[in-house]
Amino acid sequence: MGETNLVFYGVRGSYPVPHKNTNKYGGNTASILIEKDDHIVILDGGTGIINIGNYLKTRKPHIKHVDLFLTHLHSDHIQGIPFFEPVFDKEFHIAFYCDNNENNGVSFQETIYSLFDRPLSPVGKKGIKAKFDFVELDTRDPRRLTITDDFSLDYIKENNHPLAGVIIYRVNIEDKQVVYATDVETPNGFDGKYLEFIKGVDILIHDSQYFDVDYYAVQNPKKGFGHSTVSMAAANALKAEVKKLFLFHYSPDYTDKDVERMLAEARKTFMKTYLSEEQKKINLRR
Ligand SMILES: [Zn+2]
Ligand SMILES: [Zn+2]
Repeated sequence: MGETNLVFYGVRGSYPVPHKNTNKYGGNTASILIEKDDHIVILDGGTGIINIGNYLKTRKPHIKHVDLFLTHLHSDHIQGIPFFEPVFDKEFHIAFYCDNNENNGVSFQETIYSLFDRPLSPVGKKGIKAKFDFVELDTRDPRRLTITDDFSLDYIKENNHPLAGVIIYRVNIEDKQVVYATDVETPNGFDGKYLEFIKGVDILIHDSQYFDVDYYAVQNPKKGFGHSTVSMAAANALKAEVKKLFLFHYSPDYTDKDVERMLAEARKTFMKTYLSEEQKKINLRR
């Protein structure tokens, strides 16, 4: 029997920050691996996905297929894709999932290919060796996406993130549920169908880009930027009665020490809060 794990590979928001002051929790942008035996699901393709590619090399020849679920197409969620090794392996099959709503007339498929094309890259379509598939998610009529009998994903569209909103995913794996809610701004907390969607899950990974003091600052407030504060994340965890909260998508301006202060702040409201941390493996069978 194999393993069932969730591993954070990129936890940072907006842009990568490689620096001695961000080394502990990591400076790579959003990317999370969920593996069940030889089945691989990746959430977002920020620079963290580059190290997932390196990991998958160690799992050859058994793994030849990955499902890559994108929340939206902001650069910090796709910028690692052109450097993801399986792209250059003709035995690999990569299925991309996203919606096409309000992306200014450009399909998500065209956006992904543009990362490989001039002027951004010399690779071109010909340089891509893996087989790509694009699955357009219908956010008006979401259907469960099945990986195996006991590994599936549900999703819901959230429209507060400028300009095209984001997709929130819920991964159902064996007897566990994990919700990935990044790039969400929830000053009034989740309610209605969103609260229902995260209710009681085992793990809630929630945007916590800012401290409240920065979000509500008199000069240059971060309000309306499409991101939550640490207290919004903790309030949602409490309201939805989740088992564990992981803070995620830290502002690139914050050091490891700042991130630790965030943890202390969140725990005043929700004791079972943890920090997402690069290369941190969570065994989902425990
Ligand atoms: Zn982001
Ligand atoms: Zn974004």
